[in-house]
This record gives sequence, structure tokens and C-alpha cells, in this order.
Amino acid sequence: MKYALIIPDGAADEPQGTAGGVSPLEAARTPAIDQIAQAGVVGRADHVPRELQSGSDVGIMSLMGYDPLVGHTGRAPIEAAAQGIELNQHDWAIRCNLVTVSGGRMQNFTAGHVDNHVAQALIGHLQQDLDDDSPWQYFSGVSYRNLLVHRPRADAGKAMFSSATRSTPPHDLLDLPTREHLPPGPGAASLCELMDRSRELFAGSDVDSQATQVWFWGLGPRPGLEPFVERFGKTAAVVTAVDVVRGLGGLMGLTVIEVEGATGYLDTDYAAKGRAAVAALKQHDLVVVHVEATDEASHDGNAAAKIEALERIDECVVRPIHQALVEFGEYRILVSPDHPTLLRTRTHAHGHVPIAACGTGLPPDEHERYDEVTAGRSSLVFDRGCELMPWFLGDSC
Ligand SMILES: [Zn+2]
Repeated sequence: MKYALIIPDGAADEPQGTAGGVSPLEAARTPAIDQIAQAGVVGRADHVPRELQSGSDVGIMSLMGYDPLVGHTGRAPIEAAAQGIELNQHDWAIRCNLVTVSGGRMQNFTAGHVDNHVAQALIGHLQQDLDDDSPWQYFSGVSYRNLLVHRPRADAGKAMFSSATRSTPPHDLLDLPTREHLPPGPGAASLCELMDRSRELFAGSDVDSQATQVWFWGLGPRPGLEPFVERFGKTAAVVTAVDVVRGLGGLMGLTVIEVEGATGYLDTDYAAKGRAAVAALKQHDLVVVHVEATDEASHDGNAAAKIEALERIDECVVRPIHQALVEFGEYRILVSPDHPTLLRTRTHAHGHVPIAACGTGLPPDEHERYDEVTAGRSSLVFDRGCELMPWFLGDSC
């Protein structure tokens, strides 16, 4: 049996003030996904536990069948995995944003989408300022998204931080005073010292940039995720252009497939992703295709772009994969976003997302359309989203 999962990131939404009062999923022309809905079942799943921030790091972990309340240790360790940074037992990775703080308030959590070479120069200043035997190490990423890793000395025998070390994402602090949202808990004082030091170093630097300091958040140790093949007895590959999904795939032991022209943005080469997925089906039991464009359109507040992205995913990803699966004989196909991203707020939300699945052993239900309203009427509900994958791979009926 062959399996495919297509993830239109952040596709779930709410009725819009324009476009006839319907959601983007209702407005978009998606004949291939509707065909899955008609041939199979429509339901809903909640991939982001209330206790956790909504995002792909949590939602896709759940979608792949891992309970985020057990497996999710933070965003940074997943990004570290994406960059090939090894974390040992007591090491912690910490997300290091380049930010603009002015008048004591968080003005810009990306330092104006700082250029890569500027970001590298600033991260270089921070690293050079550390002693050679420092337990801290900075890693340049892309633009404002960088990492700091803490590796305790061998004689320490334990991590510097614990789950009681809290942090606040800088995008939740816009226009708020940073002083009231500094990290508390074990090890946090050292993080505050490094943030203070970055302020001095950036002020004295001749690098021209909007970045006034670094802001640390999303910290955690390496998550101990059981390899997917051991958990479910299926080999799997993931097609993605996004770091956090690449990192999760690596931590789950998936084959990560890079596609030329896949940008993670609205101009991504959808057809290339579809072709890569079809090719990967020959070698793997399950192929996962993640498309970021729907999420990006939501962050831009662009309803037309979100609808267009959905139509392109339908035409260039879902349709060819479904066609290829039919030729394999026994198969199942599933469409599910990771979390809602609302055009209204331009940010991730909690709540159920619509799912549609069809194929061998999945007799059709009475629902014929793939959207939030139809999914809301269905009795097929996964309040713990991590139970969807075992259902999809199991003896479902
Ligand atoms: Zn997003």
C-alpha cells in the first residue's frame, strides 16, 4: 500500500468579509481535493494543543503522529536539526532573533528583514566576543533567524536550563516593553546578560543595520523522537522548502527531498514538488508534501493569493499524486493543514483544520466538499491530532 499526505500550511481559515462571506477553502476551485472528499471521508483534526504556541513545528509533529505535548521541546532544537547542528544530551538550542528595540519597546522582530551578510557580520561580532572555551556558540541562519547553542562543560553533568526556563517570542511583543518580558527561570540570567552584551556590541559596530540587539526564545534540548519507520513500520519521505519541516523530518528519520524551484513562498514551483513526490512514491511507503505558500499568503493578509495558492496545490500537487497512486493499486491519500492561519489576524491560530482522505479501505461518507463548514458537520473528529496518522495508516474501517 502506498500513502501520500499533502500539507497546505495554514490553509484553514474563517469566512471572509469579502469573497461572498466564505473561507478561502470554500472560495478556491479545487476539483482534485473535492474528488478525494467525494470518494472518501471529510473530517477535522486539532494539531496544536492549547498549551503550545500555534506553528508548523507543533502542527506537523502532530500530523506525523507524534504527540507534541510529549515530543515538542522548543522551536530552536528543530531548527538546529535542519541546519545539521548536533545537540548532545545536556545541550540546549536557543532561537536568536536579530531585532529592533527602541525606547525600550520591541519595534521590529526581524530587524527589518536584515540582509544575510549583515546578519552574518553581527552574529560574527557576538561569537568573537566569547572566550575560546565558552560554552556558548552562535550559528548564523537566514536573515534575522539565527541560533545560539549552550553546551555545558563535561564536569557540569546537567543542562543549564530546564522546562521552567521560559521565553517570549518577539513577534508577540510588538510595541510592548521588553523589560517586562525577559526570560525567567534557570539559566535565564545568562541569556539576559548576552542580550545586554549584544546591545553594546551592535551600538559600537560599524555594520549598518536596524538590529539593536538579539532576542532569545524557543529554547529546548534535542527532542527524542522515535524514528517514523520504527513507530509505524512504514518508510517515509518529505518534500519541503522550509527549515522547520526539514528539521522535523531529520529528527523523525525521514528522507528529506529538496526540490529546485521550491521557495517556500508564493512563487514556489508547485509542479516540481508534485513531480518530486510522484518519483519518491516509488521508493517510499509514505510521501509527505508540505507547501508553505498558503501560510505565507495568510501572513500577508492576501486572500486572493491564498485562494490562488490553494488552486495551484490542487492542480499541480494533489492531482498528479492521486493519479500516480491509482496506478500503484492499493493506496490512501490524505489532505490536512497543520494549523489555521487567519487572514484577519495574519497569524497562526489554534483550532481544528479540515481533513479529507480516500483510498483502499476508506468507504465514502456523505460529505462531498473539503472546507471548514463541511468538516464542522462531520462526525470524524481527531481532537488529539496525533491520532490522525495512526488512523490513516491503520485498518481504518
Ligand atoms: Zn506561518
